[in-house]
Amino acid sequence: MSASAQTATREATSQTKSLNTAKRLSMRNLNKYYGEFHAVIDLSIDIEPGEFLVLLGPSGCGKSTALRMIAGLEDISTGTIELGETDVTTVLPKYRDIAMVFQSYALYPHKTVAENIGFPLKVAKVPKAELDQAVLDAANQVQLGELLGRYPRQLSGGQRQRVALARAIVRRPACFLMDEPLSNLDAKLRGFMRAELKHMQRELGVTTVYVTHDQIEAMTLAHRVAIMKEGVLQQLDTPKEVYNNPANLFVAGFMGSPPMNFVNGRIEGGTFTCHQGRAPVAGYGDHVNVEFGFRPEDTVICSEDEAHLSGVVYSSEMTGNETIVTCTIGHSTVVVKADKDYEIDMNEVVHIKADLEKVCLFDGGSGERLRG
Ligand code: ATP
Repeated sequence: MSASAQTATREATSQTKSLNTAKRLSMRNLNKYYGEFHAVIDLSIDIEPGEFLVLLGPSGCGKSTALRMIAGLEDISTGTIELGETDVTTVLPKYRDIAMVFQSYALYPHKTVAENIGFPLKVAKVPKAELDQAVLDAANQVQLGELLGRYPRQLSGGQRQRVALARAIVRRPACFLMDEPLSNLDAKLRGFMRAELKHMQRELGVTTVYVTHDQIEAMTLAHRVAIMKEGVLQQLDTPKEVYNNPANLFVAGFMGSPPMNFVNGRIEGGTFTCHQGRAPVAGYGDHVNVEFGFRPEDTVICSEDEAHLSGVVYSSEMTGNETIVTCTIGHSTVVVKADKDYEIDMNEVVHIKADLEKVCLFDGGSGERLRG
């Protein structure tokens, strides 16, 4: 575990003050086969009590399957899951002390907000006075205290998702599992709910596993992010570390909006060269197939004599606070962030300089990071 990941998990553990039910969740060598198809491959992650872990990856990478195995909704082919000191691998979902929140809110349409939130406690035969107080507490936690008498149809999408969250909170579970809970909301509400969810999770200190394909959600919400591709865990670390120090080409290209730029070339005698330029990369051995990776914000447009690479402007877009310049460099499309007042025409030649401290180099074949 990196130093920043250790700090993040320590912080998560220390935030478990308001609820001391939070537990460590351990996945050990989890595998899932659907017939011949190997959907989750040897997945091992230890999630600290109170930690917010995001499982991130493109569609079909196995993240929902992993979450469903934790919930007990999917049989595990091989491997084990422990919650606290208990091996829950074969325990029925309802006995796992876990609450799930899905993309679809799954509310009962004919029950009020209060009845929906209180339903898990009613099933557990909690005495009425205690149930009413718990419902009120959970509703207040997600700012629904004024809407307890309404029906789901009388609520906005964001409010419905908050009811689903309150229904999860009310049980005081050892662990929250969330599968793309914000993806039905429009962009503005999603941003707002993201902040609310983060605040609430940190306040409650409940161990949380959150599935998304949205790297912004992962960056903003997680203590640590687990990035998956084709059933295999690619990197597990803090959002900052994953962004600044990607383990491979896949992770580098997945994190960031716009994503990292790549230009293919070779390293010879401590210099990266390609048809459109060159840059010193001291400390790396000679290599014939290299992806030179640099982030749009770590790159500046400069004069020809200072440049590492030269290309042709494909488009230039002023977004308000900055200008996004997209250019073609050989077969690559490269994006550079420039000042909001920067102006350049299509098809003009543009020269760029990357911050060499932040450049990442990858093997063009395997995609693995090259270390200097
Ligand atoms: P998405 O974001 O699209 O939900 P995901 O990363 O959550 O994707 P999973 O739902 O975990 O992906 O699916 C992983 C792989 O397993 C996919 O290729 C999917 O087609 C396959 N899969 C999932 N459920 C089944 C099933 N019941 N039978 C056969 N294959 C399945």
